[in-house]
Amino acid sequence: MSLLNETHDPKLSSWVASANLPGTDFPIQNLPFAVFRRKESDEVFRGGVAIGDQVLDLAALSSKNILTGEAQQAALAASGSTLNPLMAMGHTAWSSLRLALSRLLREDAKHQGITAQCLLEMEDVEYALPARIGDYTDFYTSIHHATNVGKLFRPDNPLLPNYRWVPIGYHGRASSVVLSGHEVHRPQGQLMPPGAERPMLAPTKRLDFELELGIFVGAGNSLGTPIPMDQAEQYVFGICLLNDWSARDIQGWEYQPLGPFLSKSFATSISPWIVTLEALAPYRLPFERDHDEPQPLPYLDSENNRLAGALDIQLKVMLSTPAMREADLPPQTICQTSYKHAYWTLAQLITHHTVNGCNLQAGDLLGSGTLSGPEPHQLAAMLEITEGGKKPLTLPNGEQRVFLEDGDQVTLRGWCTSKDAARIGFGECIGKISH
Ligand code: MN
Repeated sequence: MSLLNETHDPKLSSWVASANLPGTDFPIQNLPFAVFRRKESDEVFRGGVAIGDQVLDLAALSSKNILTGEAQQAALAASGSTLNPLMAMGHTAWSSLRLALSRLLREDAKHQGITAQCLLEMEDVEYALPARIGDYTDFYTSIHHATNVGKLFRPDNPLLPNYRWVPIGYHGRASSVVLSGHEVHRPQGQLMPPGAERPMLAPTKRLDFELELGIFVGAGNSLGTPIPMDQAEQYVFGICLLNDWSARDIQGWEYQPLGPFLSKSFATSISPWIVTLEALAPYRLPFERDHDEPQPLPYLDSENNRLAGALDIQLKVMLSTPAMREADLPPQTICQTSYKHAYWTLAQLITHHTVNGCNLQAGDLLGSGTLSGPEPHQLAAMLEITEGGKKPLTLPNGEQRVFLEDGDQVTLRGWCTSKDAARIGFGECIGKISH
């Protein structure tokens, strides 16, 4: 578990002026990683770090001979077209690089002229997927989501008895993980309309988003070696925003007995910036289970997890329709929640995933599961907001939605605040539906 250190000091400011503006997602306390190049260029993609409205080019920086030791090795590892080599170096290397970058970017830093040569305007860059994602696993860590969805699919038996004991997950599809901004095509699939005698192949009529976080695995474990709770977080590189697009009619027909398949594998969108777990250290909360809930089995329990296993990452979903954009209406917030409502913590997901000896690898992606909270404004999928399509959502221009229509655009945002820390953010994850 990352401890607070000088890089989290809320009093730090940067010589990059835009990093000091209130409300920026990328102050000097954040320093998230992405893979980028100059927009519409044929430059090679390479790793970068966000600071204010600028991107610090790690390939350029590593050629300047102002970093030393492990930080220089880490910057070199981040200079290629994926962050997998940096991820594989492990948490001490990530931490050394973070400290060195914090010292180079803060007010009164040495070498400002040289470092400034490695900055690009964020608006002038385009991004690639930050890692070569070998495997993608999607969890189901909100008991509120699981219960709401369960009520729709099984009114008599909403929450299956294993939920309170097992962090439920399934193996997703890594090849269709796309970056924010990528258009999402309405998939076709096999569906069984209510009352029909036989299924048909048709475009989904119940296209949905799921507000999730994406967890990037750093250094992996070897096959056959479970990761215990006390080491679990050392294996996590960082967190991004994730939209697990879902076709509910395809899902309802196909999901038993082996879980979702084609209803999920057509696209999963992620945000370009990965906020490191170290940057998230100030926003920790205790992991608490109500007394009437079963406590986790010993292998999913640890003192650190009880003290600070949860993360207060605030999240929201915004929807914009073609008619809203035509009328210059801003996107409408349709969900606002926090990761703190999750039933299982990050460490519990890693430990459970590997308890059978399964090996995680650098660049693997875990989805948190839809992060609905307990309140009505915290529902994190259209399926829940409209109670399975029964209660349409009315937008400010009078339009209604039960599920997503062509041209609709969904934007996810995330940020953290705490009275003793700077505000940091995740940027955004955008996807527009096309037919
Ligand atoms: Mn999901």
